[in-house]
Amino acid sequence: MKPNIKNIAVLTSGGDAPGMNACIRAVVRTGIYNGINMFGVLQGYQGLITNNIIPMDARSVSNIIHLGGTVLKTARCLEFKTDEGMDLAYEHLKLHQIDALVVIGGDGTFTGARRFAQRHHINVIAIPGTIDNDLYGSDFTLGYDTAINTVIEAIDKIRDTADSHDRLFFVEVMGRDSGCIALRSAIACGAEAVLLPEKATSLDELIKQLEVGAATKKSSSIVIVSEGHKQGGAYDIAKHVKEKFNHYDTKVTILGHLQRGGSPSSFDRILGSRLGYAAVNELLKGSTQQMVGLRGNDIRLTSLDEALTEHSFKLESDLLEMTKVLSI
Ligand code: ADP
Repeated sequence: MKPNIKNIAVLTSGGDAPGMNACIRAVVRTGIYNGINMFGVLQGYQGLITNNIIPMDARSVSNIIHLGGTVLKTARCLEFKTDEGMDLAYEHLKLHQIDALVVIGGDGTFTGARRFAQRHHINVIAIPGTIDNDLYGSDFTLGYDTAINTVIEAIDKIRDTADSHDRLFFVEVMGRDSGCIALRSAIACGAEAVLLPEKATSLDELIKQLEVGAATKKSSSIVIVSEGHKQGGAYDIAKHVKEKFNHYDTKVTILGHLQRGGSPSSFDRILGSRLGYAAVNELLKGSTQQMVGLRGNDIRLTSLDEALTEHSFKLESDLLEMTKVLSI
């Protein structure tokens, strides 16, 4: 049965990701096209609690498709994790007669959305927005493509200076528990080695790999370290390696938050537009507690239950093996 939805709100929550603005634009305009009153919630779930909710029209999302970050702002909100916080959030939604919600964020955001929908019977559709590419049910998450391109651009520059000085660089990239950015940037930049959270790599094994490179006259080496690696961050790994392998001058670069920013790539602009458009259309059809995601070249629904329980990023062992072969 089609629900009688008149007012929809959209929010971005958790870590920001490039492409969120393209997605907000698509949500707002798809709603307005269908005769819905659209609202934006500022600062994620925090804005529901503080009643920071504003009406949005088609012009309020003009000229944002190319911008990084999120015009709605984002936040981490502990109060929303409590029943009292959720009840207050619901009161504010009712104040504006909001019948349905689109949330853009990562698995924390999805967990909050599912609890909220179950507690207050409000229809919710979630959109995977995170640079980590770690959500089950979408081959790619919004922001990942831009982030990896930012990483590649930075590592290419590091390679220039590494090669000029015969240096060994340890470059730390983001991804939390997912090594997707690390593994794929290693392939794209021709890194000599990559350390992933999904796989324990012994430092002896790493040193052996670097020694082969040095023996075959590599003038520089780059090791990509994913931030979630079990043996520590790039500084720790570099320190341990240096004790046993001292062929090159060793440097460390932590790419950090620059990976979150920047104008979204064409891929993320298009993905954000498709996901936002689909989210509103699904709400109008009566779908709820679902995530819209990209599978192959199709936008598909995955229940939040499934998205939150299935394992997201599985180690792509074939790609890891290929990285080794191609870096000899
Ligand atoms: P991400 O969405 O990027 O994974 P977080 O894990 O920080 O980021 O989650 C974003 C927000 O989602 C949190 O600040 C909180 O407001 C909400 N959230 C996370 N977990 C829960 C939960 N168990 N119950 C209710 N809300 C939650």
